[in-house]
Amino acid sequence: MPELVGEVTDLLQRLIRNACVNDGTPASGGEERNADLLASFFEGTGLDMERFESAPGRSNLVVRLEGADPKAPSLVLMGHTDVVPVHPDNWRRDPFGGELVDGVVWGRGAIDMLNLTASMAVATRRLVLDGFKPRGTLIYLAVADEEALGTYGAKWLLEHHSDAVRADFVVTESGGFRMPLPSAGGPKLPVMVGEKGTYWCKLRVRGTPGHGSMPLRTDNALVKAAEVVRRIAEFQPETEVHEVWRRFVQAADLPEELAAVLLDPGRIRAFYESAPDVGLARMVHACTHTTFAPTMVAGGIKTNVIPDMVDLDVDIRTLPGQNAADIREMLSQALGDLASSVEIHAQNDDQASSSPVDTRLWDSLRKVTGKLVPGATTIPFLFVGAADTACCGRAGATAYRAGLFSERISFADFAPMFHGDNEGIDPDSLDLSTRLSEGLARDLLG
Ligand SMILES: [Zn+2]
Repeated sequence: MPELVGEVTDLLQRLIRNACVNDGTPASGGEERNADLLASFFEGTGLDMERFESAPGRSNLVVRLEGADPKAPSLVLMGHTDVVPVHPDNWRRDPFGGELVDGVVWGRGAIDMLNLTASMAVATRRLVLDGFKPRGTLIYLAVADEEALGTYGAKWLLEHHSDAVRADFVVTESGGFRMPLPSAGGPKLPVMVGEKGTYWCKLRVRGTPGHGSMPLRTDNALVKAAEVVRRIAEFQPETEVHEVWRRFVQAADLPEELAAVLLDPGRIRAFYESAPDVGLARMVHACTHTTFAPTMVAGGIKTNVIPDMVDLDVDIRTLPGQNAADIREMLSQALGDLASSVEIHAQNDDQASSSPVDTRLWDSLRKVTGKLVPGATTIPFLFVGAADTACCGRAGATAYRAGLFSERISFADFAPMFHGDNEGIDPDSLDLSTRLSEGLARDLLG
């Protein structure tokens, strides 16, 4: 294995084995293990390193290569060090073994996003060892808690140590996979210039307690909750052809008829309901709609007691420009006459964000990507999940999500691995994303 690929592969394997599993509780994560590993990886390079602990075990690492010109643009390469939990029974390999088998590194985080956390670190270290003296400052940032909205990671850092992490440009996961679109010309590689917002909430459905042996005409909170779930699942929010979507469709070189459908709010639904590629259909739907996914339910106290309270968790993802009032209005439409018996408890309200496309970072990305993947074009896209770029955007930075994958990882492979089973990545992809980070730093800061 060539030296660079060996280095990034090895670092990724060790990051995976540290198993910094974030289940959303404050005591989980343990990202200090990966922060320690990365700090020792940079040892001896002379780079400035600072550790910031937001809570016990929740470490964030900031590595800094100061630029010579304070007026030159600055760049943050941001990786997260936590991963989501696994169901080990569903995995063909040990999810925390980091094994390299048949040309694939297997393990939780191989795609989301220890791959890029590793390749960004290797790129940064290489630049320094090469004697790179940038005009603008380069910051490598390894943050905790991305998988639970950054409360102990990016969000916390920006609130408490913004001077250490503030920059003009931010690059983080993911992007750069080959989109399953019938585009003309070479591969179209998405760069996420915006991301949807999150409005996670608990819906509390109340009823009246009673004896389970006489259910007739009781006010059963669970029965009501079932109807609430049904109505939410059935709800069809309006289709929105927003700016990022429009730019994406226009840049994707699609057949004229398909492009026309994807820009017509009246025809998109027919497309996603019948498209044979369900991954593509889901993506088109999520990019052009507010989405509502009921994900958890808790309620009842005993088999023979009619429950008087049920809590439903709903994962709501919002589009650019929407706020809490818009979401509550949609929920009320969805619930109809049940709205009055449901209390909405918002757990977070992070609005969608997007960065402009006419920037120096965009130009650099386009240039560097074009060199690494001949014939490829970068196209702006909306990330339908949530990540740390939103807080960077709110802090005034231009934040994109960009990576690169080899042809071995198709979108059909990529999408189910995100938080799914059997996550794996090939060393060629690791090599490409390392070169992307390195090329970006040279082009933008050099
Ligand atoms: Zn991630």
